[in-house]
Amino acid sequence: MSEIKLPEAFVKRMINYLGEEEFFAFEKSLEKEPRVSIRINPFKGIIHEADRTAVPWNNEGYFLAERPSFTLDPLFHAGCYYVQESSSMFIAHILKYIQAPKDGIFLDLAAAPGGKSTLLSSFIGKDGFLVANEVIKTRANILKENIIKWGLGNTMVTQNDPEHFRELEGFFDLVLVDAPCSGEGLFRKDQEARNEWSEDNVNLCALRQQRIMDQAGALVKGGGYLIYSTCTFNEKENEDMIRFICSEYAYEPVRIPIDPTWKITETATETEDGTFYGYRFYPHHVEGEGFFVSVFKRPEDSYIQEPKKIKDFKHSHIKAANKQESQRLISDLGLDERSTFYSLQDSFFWTNAKYQTHFEFLSRFLNIRYFGVELGKFNKEQFIPNHEFAVSILPKKGFTAHELNLDQALTFLRKEDMVVDDIPEGWVLVTYQNIPMGWIKNLGNRINNNYPKEWRIRMR
Ligand code: SAM
Repeated sequence: MSEIKLPEAFVKRMINYLGEEEFFAFEKSLEKEPRVSIRINPFKGIIHEADRTAVPWNNEGYFLAERPSFTLDPLFHAGCYYVQESSSMFIAHILKYIQAPKDGIFLDLAAAPGGKSTLLSSFIGKDGFLVANEVIKTRANILKENIIKWGLGNTMVTQNDPEHFRELEGFFDLVLVDAPCSGEGLFRKDQEARNEWSEDNVNLCALRQQRIMDQAGALVKGGGYLIYSTCTFNEKENEDMIRFICSEYAYEPVRIPIDPTWKITETATETEDGTFYGYRFYPHHVEGEGFFVSVFKRPEDSYIQEPKKIKDFKHSHIKAANKQESQRLISDLGLDERSTFYSLQDSFFWTNAKYQTHFEFLSRFLNIRYFGVELGKFNKEQFIPNHEFAVSILPKKGFTAHELNLDQALTFLRKEDMVVDDIPEGWVLVTYQNIPMGWIKNLGNRINNNYPKEWRIRMR
């Protein structure tokens, strides 16, 4: 492993904080190879049977014995699992303990590339609604790709500055802010992070976090929860942020029970509103990377904003589907009656009808990059399905499925010409280990490979 030296000021601070002896163990742990872990998609089935051990605080998380080539695993591209370092998976333990409502409206305010959003999406499953937001355009594209592959259809991807949420005070049951930070917790996994670190940058990050939390703190409804996390160790971005949040908003502390064998370090921060708790993950104690998280509860009597019902939905580019189109989509594709459909440039999107009012209300304020499941479009009598639809968990009535072997699945993912026998003419859903991978179209004399060009793999 290449060794970029730890920044001197960082070392000094950590020795001050941990003491010399513990710092030595901490420093030594940074020389170890990071452990690879994945979190499975509970809606797509279990994979990677071999050599795995459970992540103690998340029953969908597993450590792998070694790093496989994810690029050459079709199930990775089909959204069967997400590669996520294990400390971050602690969010699942928090959700379980606080009994977050599965049918709630959740917001992940700093969501790309989507590790915690896919975790939240799994948690709410078919019952809830998630807004996954990322302010930086290129990163919002990656977030969108990961949400599409996860495929649950319960997420709206937006690209907004936290400021743009100001009308949504008291709207969300749960707001997660995994804040942009100085990244000290990544000094093992990403050695470049050591070069990018400086005391000035820590101060800048803390200021930026204050700006973000100044908005985020207002968005949680009475009785709802705020989760603040970083992947850094310094107090300015962690415990000081607890003090900042409590100085700006009324919140109640939440103490999360932790099993002593997990070796997570609990910190206590005194504020005027009581003692608040932080959970620190150190690489010399846990298998994962550095992480910090704290949980806050909005008092029950705080403001709650209900979405205003909109009579005639109007939007600059999204249109509500008419009755006839909706009925046709439901019957042709075998979709649930409780669906609401929209179209964008003739392509139809599925959403859960239960959240129609929420979606339409939110669309007035937010820059939407993706929502629900993009199904495809009608071309006269034919329905032309989209890739997004293939990898979603929605039923796909009327389409033949054809199972590919590993070589064929990789040919498909490389978007190369396919040779497949015994399939009918028209659109065919290709699967690998019975998991949908995408569409091919049999034209009789040749087969079109419809895997998205921008996602194709180049590795051999
Ligand atoms: N939650 C993500 C996950 O689990 O995959 C990781 C989020 S990362 C730690 C923080 C994100 O905040 C980055 O994607 C970054 O682009 C975004 N960000 C940067 N500046 C921001 C700002 N001013 N407001 C909100 N988010 C910001």
